[in-house]
Amino acid sequence: MITKGNFLLMEPSEFKGWLDKQSITRKIDKLQVHHTASPNYSTRQMVSGVAKQDVWKCLEGMRSYHLSQGWSGTGQNITVLEDGRIAISLDRDLNKTPAGIKGANTGALCVEIVGNFDLGGDTMTDSQRQAVIHLYACLALKLNIPVDTSHIVYHAWYTASGAWIGDYKKGESSKTCPGTNFFGQGNTKAAAEKSFIPDVKSEVERIKKGGDEPMTAEEKKQMDELKATVESQAKWIATQKAKENMECPKWAEEAYEYYKDYITDKKGSYEFWRLIVVSYRKEKVRKN
Ligand SMILES: [Zn+2]
Repeated sequence: MITKGNFLLMEPSEFKGWLDKQSITRKIDKLQVHHTASPNYSTRQMVSGVAKQDVWKCLEGMRSYHLSQGWSGTGQNITVLEDGRIAISLDRDLNKTPAGIKGANTGALCVEIVGNFDLGGDTMTDSQRQAVIHLYACLALKLNIPVDTSHIVYHAWYTASGAWIGDYKKGESSKTCPGTNFFGQGNTKAAAEKSFIPDVKSEVERIKKGGDEPMTAEEKKQMDELKATVESQAKWIATQKAKENMECPKWAEEAYEYYKDYITDKKGSYEFWRLIVVSYRKEKVRKN
């Protein structure tokens, strides 16, 4: 954790511990989701996933720009960098109302995610993605905010005057922020419900079970693989279960007709139906 100039910079693994110690005195019930658009992966001078530009230059650059717009400080409370590191704005601490969405900042916390996530823009790194999910989960837990699209809100779901639309509507929304390809899905409510919100929800559950540190991209991959294995095994078991007590299959129909006076109902295991068929064939051979 490093404090320099107007920012406190930390690793994603340090965030929860830091947040737990903060005393939040204002009412916060909305977590805003933004992309910075500029700075982005180009201005950060990304070379094979690593930014060449000095991180403080990026952070102070945003602040200077905001001050030049007549704002009292950095617009956002929190910034998530392209490598997942998290910066807290010292001149816009969590207890200060942010300048994130004009007309809709009271009771909100503003998080800016460095990058341009419009279609054709940057592809979010796995580290940044994991940090973003972890950050919103920690904030939701700390502030007791439900993880849904009424409380974790995209900038694009508001008009230019700050009126709530609740979804991205081209022509009505003030901006495309956090990007028409945010999280590889887009900036609509349906897109948020498809991957972003469920990801934050499962991170909340993981933290509740005692996982303080965010998952690394590698751990996430392993978990996804494990999930896929478990799902395919569950499918196999379900197929086997269905075979234990199945309706008479087509291929056993003739045998069933022959023996039906001796069979209580038309249900049985796969093995039962096979035996009936074999027995029926034997019977037929004997009779001929
Ligand atoms: Zn925005």
